[in-house]
Amino acid sequence: MPSPPPPAPKKDSHVPLPPGWVKGYSSSQKRYFWSHKATRASQWHPPTEDEARDPEGARREAEEKTRHEREKRKRGGGGGVPSSAAPAASASAAGAPAAPASAAAAPPKKARAAMGSRVAIIVPYRDLHAEQKRASHLARFCPRMVEFLSSLPGVSEFRVFVVEQSDDGRKFNRGKLLNVGFDIARSEPGGYDAFIYHDVDLLPGDDLGPYGSKTLVLESHIKCGGSAHTFSRMHNGGKYSFEVGPSIFEGLDRPSLNPLRIVFDMLGEEMPVATYTGLGYWTPTGYWRFPIGSKSKFEDLLMEQAEDGPKAVEEWRALRLRLKTLGGSTTAVSLLNLRQDAGFLATTAGSLPFVLRNPDVFADLPLTFDSLHKTVDQIVTVPFLRNFIDTMCIFCGFPAKGAMTAHMLYILERFFEESACYSVPLGGTSQMGDTLKRGLEKFGGKLQLNAHVERVIVENGRAVGVKLKNGNVVKAKKAVVSNATPFDTVKMLKPDEQTVPPDVHKWREELGKLPRHGAIMHLFLAIDAEGLDLSHIEDPAHLVVQDWGRSLQDSQNLCSFFIPSLLDPSVCPEGKHVIHVYSSGGEPYEPWEKLTPGSEEYEAYKEKRASCLWEAVERCIPDVRERLEFSIIGSPLAHEAFLRRDRGTYGMAWAAGTSAPQAGLLGLGLPFPFPNLKTPVDGLLRCGDSCFPGIGTPSAAASGIIAANTMVHVGKHLDMLKELSERDPMYKFLDPGVLGQIYKPLVGGFTPSPELDLEKLGNAKELPVEERDVAKSA
Ligand SMILES: Cc1cc2nc3c(=O)[nH]c(=O)nc-3n(C[C@H](O)[C@H](O)[C@H](O)COP(=O)(O)OP(=O)(O)OC[C@H]3O[C@@H](n4cnc5c(N)ncnc54)[C@H](O)[C@@H]3O)c2cc1C
Repeated sequence: MPSPPPPAPKKDSHVPLPPGWVKGYSSSQKRYFWSHKATRASQWHPPTEDEARDPEGARREAEEKTRHEREKRKRGGGGGVPSSAAPAASASAAGAPAAPASAAAAPPKKARAAMGSRVAIIVPYRDLHAEQKRASHLARFCPRMVEFLSSLPGVSEFRVFVVEQSDDGRKFNRGKLLNVGFDIARSEPGGYDAFIYHDVDLLPGDDLGPYGSKTLVLESHIKCGGSAHTFSRMHNGGKYSFEVGPSIFEGLDRPSLNPLRIVFDMLGEEMPVATYTGLGYWTPTGYWRFPIGSKSKFEDLLMEQAEDGPKAVEEWRALRLRLKTLGGSTTAVSLLNLRQDAGFLATTAGSLPFVLRNPDVFADLPLTFDSLHKTVDQIVTVPFLRNFIDTMCIFCGFPAKGAMTAHMLYILERFFEESACYSVPLGGTSQMGDTLKRGLEKFGGKLQLNAHVERVIVENGRAVGVKLKNGNVVKAKKAVVSNATPFDTVKMLKPDEQTVPPDVHKWREELGKLPRHGAIMHLFLAIDAEGLDLSHIEDPAHLVVQDWGRSLQDSQNLCSFFIPSLLDPSVCPEGKHVIHVYSSGGEPYEPWEKLTPGSEEYEAYKEKRASCLWEAVERCIPDVRERLEFSIIGSPLAHEAFLRRDRGTYGMAWAAGTSAPQAGLLGLGLPFPFPNLKTPVDGLLRCGDSCFPGIGTPSAAASGIIAANTMVHVGKHLDMLKELSERDPMYKFLDPGVLGQIYKPLVGGFTPSPELDLEKLGNAKELPVEERDVAKSA
């Protein structure tokens, strides 16, 4: 952290500066400087009368003085020359002498204008093997670094030290060269504020997005949003909009721990919402309401509804206490800090103080990924509380048995915090996709709708693009990321049509056969609201359970209904309501696949399977059928077609407790219940709700972030975290700060991992001209 400027010397604090001159403070030199913006004159003393009259002359004089000092140092055998004084790039790109060390200086024109950090870039180098093309890398590296560093506002001076190992018959010793470079740079007069160890075959990218990658999102559907899209129907001249998927969102109304909200803030995009504070429960014992955002109100509910109120409160407190440390870790390190390579040591280093204060978090690490029921069974006996916990988990596809403990940690941490609330995105949940789209486009990305990816193109074991259903080919320079389910993703790799790495066969087999949740039944209702009294409910979102004795995964037992028009009048004409009723993700697909849509049999089966959805709404609105404007039943076949999810699945269903197949390294030491986001095909990654941390919009957003983090150098990731931490006090914990910077040089060389590091692979130039850096299927 730069230290704050000392108080200005009294002597000049009130002296007005000549026109065009400004006074600044150099945190690196710990002293004031004066500069003239138009001429870029910059000096350590206030302008004299002559300098005020002729700033251009002052600049020339200052340059001359520095040049003189540089030459003097050179004659005296000193190491290098500050770039601010160098007349021209003296980088010895092609002609670097075969000496133990050579220094290359570059003059950042822009950097001369402002005072900031002095940066030394140390590059180990040797041009021994022609196929490594190191000389041509260096020829590209030097001008790019000059251009890049000159564009950074915080860098006043920089110097690139190319430390070359002679042809001494020994192995390339990167570490030693870095040490040599560091010693030379450190001995320079004035010193440096930052030392960056760099490789000659890595180039900083253009600042086009939060991570500088050009991203093309290819969406199969004609609407964006995937499982969270909205569709509309016209009826009697009025427009009715319906949700196809999620309805319950916490933490979207303000900066929060919800990764989706954090992404919005990262992109600088807003999504207006209306808020509400509870979830209606229609159970065998009647209606009650889970009040979000209050510890005490929840305990009141337990006292009121539980079979043994005081015991339920006691057990609830004990459960919270048991998971307190793990829960606390969610505010020590966020999902946004995660990445899948050694860089995570730097990006999660900020949690070190928390870990030191709570060493038990290590012992509990396996518990984080394990099934929640193992903890619940030890502590909770009161049926009402056990049932409630099951319903809190069910959105991830499982009740407590099968749900990853981490799922409940977020809920424990957030849902009971004072003022936590649920949100209705105004205009429909498709606003979530639209908000992300705005952010994507703002940073130079593009979303292409109606672009169904048929095949991932693999060349030399590497994903180099995709082929669309319409025959178009999109090349991807950096990576292809599939956001489709694993069942849909494996279909995009066609080993019979192309040569793929041998591991792909096993990977395809295992991912394709992963257990999966069933499909979903939908009922969409448009009703007349005239004279409708809904004063007995307070919220738009409701859960309906027929029988606690039956599985909550049974689609005929558990369902939800959502009336967004209670809070968002824009989704239907005035005086009407729209209702989305949907089953749990346990609707068996097999009977449906035997039926032909449109056939009598199919229509009859639709009516039959949807009758429990009608009955569910009737518990809240008894005369709902009489009020009907129109209704639509969505079968699993429709769900599959519109949401593009194989067999209409709610998602991958590996129950927590053991490692999933293809879980990667994490799965070796921990019960990690998700297949790895990396695949056996270099440059092909996955994200979405079948990746850690699972089903749900916050989780899907988190998995996308983890994939993006994994694709970039850890330095960019740290920069992003720092920038984000400054956007809101809530996000302060995201920045690992000085601890991250300490780890960065240790792990930086390993990020991104080699198969994602095109420059390191040395094949970037050989690839065909790319259309975009990343092709993402959704
Ligand atoms: C009825 C229902 C209710 C839910 N309720 C909630 C809730 O209340 N709260 C909550 O947080 N979550 C809820 N969820 C879960 C949540 O919606 C999902 O987990 C999340 O939206 C999944 O996001 P995703 O990006 O992983 O997948 P998806 O949203 O399925 O996105 C995958 C995308 O890939 C596209 N695609 C697939 N194949 C191809 C291809 N070959 N080429 C191009 N594009 C392709 C699809 O069109 C789709 O847009 C619910 C889900 C459903 C279905």
